[in-house]
Parts: sequence; C-alpha cells; structure tokens
Amino acid sequence: MSDAKSRCPECRDVADPAFRPFCSKRCADVDLARWLTGGYAIPATDVAGDDAEDDSPSPPRETH
Ligand SMILES: [Zn+2]
Repeated sequence: MSDAKSRCPECRDVADPAFRPFCSKRCADVDLARWLTGGYAIPATDVAGDDAEDDSPSPPRETH
C-alpha cells in the first residue's frame, strides 16, 4: 500500500486517469482486443506436436 496510484495491467506503468485503469490508449486497446477475442476464439497453438498419424494408408483387409 505504498502507492495509491493504480498501475496499468498491461505494462505496469502508472495509469493515466484518462485511460484508467491503463496508462495509454494503446494498452487499453491491447487489453480490450484480448478481452474480446480471448473469450470466443483462442488461437489454437496446440496443433503442432502431432506426428502425422494418418500418414499410413492402412489398406482395407479383405478377410473372406
Ligand atoms: Zn500500459
């Protein structure tokens, strides 16, 4: 409780009263964009790491 000023959640800079709780419009935009997109579509980054599993043709076995 040393400083009464709020800090920008984006860059931890001192917040500007005009852009509270952010320090600038840029940080406000960044946070807003993240908030808007974060809830709906999170960029899928876990696609990599999958070893081409369907590479083998796996021919149909005809056992008659
Ligand atoms: Zn900031």
